[in-house]
Amino acid sequence: MGRLFGTNGVRGTINDELTVDMMLDLGRAIGSVLGPGKIAISTDSRMGGEMFKQSVISGLLSTGCDVVDIGPCPTPCLQFNTRELGCIGGVMITASHNPPEFNGIKVMGSDGIEVTREVESVIEDVYFSREFKVAPWDEIGTQYSDDLAIRRYIDGIKKHVDVGAIRKKAPKVVVDGANSVGALATPLLLRELGCKVITINSQMDGMFPGRNPEPTPENIVDLSKTVISVGADIGIAHDGDADRATFVDENGAILWGDQSFAIIARHVLWKKPDSTLVTPVSSGRLIEDIVKESNARVDWTKVGSVIVSHRVVEIGAELGGEENGGVFYPDHIAVRDGAMTAAQMIDIMVSNNSSLSGLVKSLPQYYSTKTKVPVPPDKKDALLETLLELTKDENRITMDGVKLTYAEGWILIRPSGTEPLWRCFAEAKTQEIADTLCERGVNLIRDAAAKT
Ligand code: MG
Repeated sequence: MGRLFGTNGVRGTINDELTVDMMLDLGRAIGSVLGPGKIAISTDSRMGGEMFKQSVISGLLSTGCDVVDIGPCPTPCLQFNTRELGCIGGVMITASHNPPEFNGIKVMGSDGIEVTREVESVIEDVYFSREFKVAPWDEIGTQYSDDLAIRRYIDGIKKHVDVGAIRKKAPKVVVDGANSVGALATPLLLRELGCKVITINSQMDGMFPGRNPEPTPENIVDLSKTVISVGADIGIAHDGDADRATFVDENGAILWGDQSFAIIARHVLWKKPDSTLVTPVSSGRLIEDIVKESNARVDWTKVGSVIVSHRVVEIGAELGGEENGGVFYPDHIAVRDGAMTAAQMIDIMVSNNSSLSGLVKSLPQYYSTKTKVPVPPDKKDALLETLLELTKDENRITMDGVKLTYAEGWILIRPSGTEPLWRCFAEAKTQEIADTLCERGVNLIRDAAAKT
């Protein structure tokens, strides 16, 4: 059977790779597999969102599933409401951080977490075999709207921060909503917490006129400039479906994801000693240092937010996180959550009586280098065996690619999910050592390619 789902759901270019017919059949397949029961649905601001939503709803109803349409909202808001409304599943029409011409779909289970690869392949089997459940005429599902989803979500987040303390301090915050659903929840949440909120890119617009929906440093220069010009304490940038948050300090400097994750991890783990933090092997030594100083332990996973979510729940971990700005806070819900991450960061600044740059300065300092090495497509997958053989006597983690760890730093080499290349990432206490380690990784990949 073919594949539809990638790392985070189905993605494709609108009315080209992804059509209304496909979305109708996906709705039928999802309803056939998850039903019977009630399914929550939402969209981000992307073009075709409303169009695809109607297709998916028709498909779901035809299988006998009921549908609650909660209107446009962030993915974590849909996930939170899926659980809170007692739904058997949720569907988000989104392509997250992809360029504007893309749309897609993420499928959640009753706990609000994206379904596992196993469930996805059952949905794919039904989709391709067209063995859809068809409800008798008098058992077709019913549909209704619920416009309290964002209210419920914001109230849920407020339970996990010190509202009184934040109100007293009233930090000035700039929120960059990426012209999408991040603008619907975060500014409202932060105003209710007593922050002075200034917004940019806060009108919903599927053309993404303000910037590209991925909150990378080159895409959020306007946020940095705004933070400086209005004298804000912090800037927050979301991706297209607002499950991630990237931060800018009061000087306009952009934090990398490992840094914001480390600040939140230190805060959470300090309150809960003997706890466990789940993170993919792509995370760096900074997180390891924080975990060690907090008497906690790291549980490594393969790269992928859905894998982290399920692992957090499976072992009852206190926190999860990724180096791309995704933080999973299971006391709220074990998924990446941009607004929750933003509220946590502000809570930490206030409770430590510290600027954001001050919090960054208190972290151990590391330097990194990354590069990619093209490999012949026919050798791409076979290369791993050779690499495992070449590094068998080294200190390493092999759950996803090969991560080699040394006293002075580490190297991670893993294949790209989509292109004929391997990626090499190295981190160390100095830039020189990071560069040397990265070179070593590149040589290993070339060596392995030659011997494969
Ligand atoms: Mg996203």
